[in-house]
Amino acid sequence: MKKIKFDIITIFPDILKCYFNETLLKKAIEKGIIEVNIHNLRNYSSDIRKSVDDKPFGGGRGMVIKIEPILKAVAHLTKLELKGLKLKPKNKGTKIILFSPRGKKFNQKMAFKFSKLKHLILISGRYEGIDERIAKYLATDIISIGDYVLMGGEIPALVLVESISRLVPGVVGKSDLLLSERITKNYGFIEFPQFTRPAIFYPGKILKKIKKNVKWQVPKLLLFGDHKKIQEWREKNQKIIE
Ligand code: SAH
Repeated sequence: MKKIKFDIITIFPDILKCYFNETLLKKAIEKGIIEVNIHNLRNYSSDIRKSVDDKPFGGGRGMVIKIEPILKAVAHLTKLELKGLKLKPKNKGTKIILFSPRGKKFNQKMAFKFSKLKHLILISGRYEGIDERIAKYLATDIISIGDYVLMGGEIPALVLVESISRLVPGVVGKSDLLLSERITKNYGFIEFPQFTRPAIFYPGKILKKIKKNVKWQVPKLLLFGDHKKIQEWREKNQKIIE
């Protein structure tokens, strides 16, 4: 069985721990399909107060995470080799991913590529970010999950683990395996809309202000078993919601 290992480096390990104690990710971990380890960056600090940050050169507000604890943590998790001024993971199946709003925008195609690897080390920043030399000399990939600024890299780490894991065979059910096959072909990720019972919903039943005859209907052709027509409808509606 294929196994992919995620090592997440953070100063807030507890935010992440609870997430992996629930849902299909917990099952995938129990089944041994994925492995998720959460590492407290403070354990790699060399000072007694366990601090991992310092003031920015050039002045300005906030604090910046130092190189030393990050490098120690990463070196503990994978073998590194020097190429010029850069450190690279010795193992080709390993990536060292750094999160930054200035990074390359994450998408389904990247999730798919990462799902083929063996080992992903995810570095979550906080405060004003991480000393830029980590991006320059250590990270193999610098990733943004979108054009907005969060307070830390923990949510981006969860976004990666979840979107990558669901593409690993065995993590979600059979129907999704088929979906991932479709993704293999075109990296398309937009699905068609779904409906469930009742076929006619009367919102007036819940909200008394709404007239009794107001109804929300499921497109009629989905109610009948004409697979060809259903397929056509689904393909036509597989598009971004405006
Ligand atoms: N000034 C910093 C941003 C600090 S935000 C910079 O320009 O890089 C603090 C941390 O939150 C970052 O180090 C990163 O780990 C995370 N973060 C914030 N927004 C993010 C985004 N859109 N995508 C990925 N990570 C993000």
